[in-house]
Amino acid sequence: MAVKITDTCISCDACLDECPTESIVDNDENPTGEDIYFVNADTCDECGDNVPACAEACPTEGCIIFADSGEPCIED
Ligand code: SF4
Ligand code: SF4
Repeated sequence: MAVKITDTCISCDACLDECPTESIVDNDENPTGEDIYFVNADTCDECGDNVPACAEACPTEGCIIFADSGEPCIED
């Protein structure tokens, strides 16, 4: 269970401090080497039963998706 940040990310950093499990790193620290923000799937718990805090903070619609389903965490 984890979320994923997609290439519509505008690198605003709004999600970084909101994650309760500190699972998000920016592109400079992405362990895959890709130039995109990264969510550690080993520590992200999709915020338990709550709306993902990262998605709630994100200004870019549909940017953060559930990794399993590919569906946006928040749909307008
Ligand atoms: S869903 Fe929650 S735990 Fe996972 S990266 Fe987003 S804020 Fe962190
Ligand atoms: S809040 Fe959204 S747009 Fe901003 S850095 Fe995080 S994923 Fe990217």
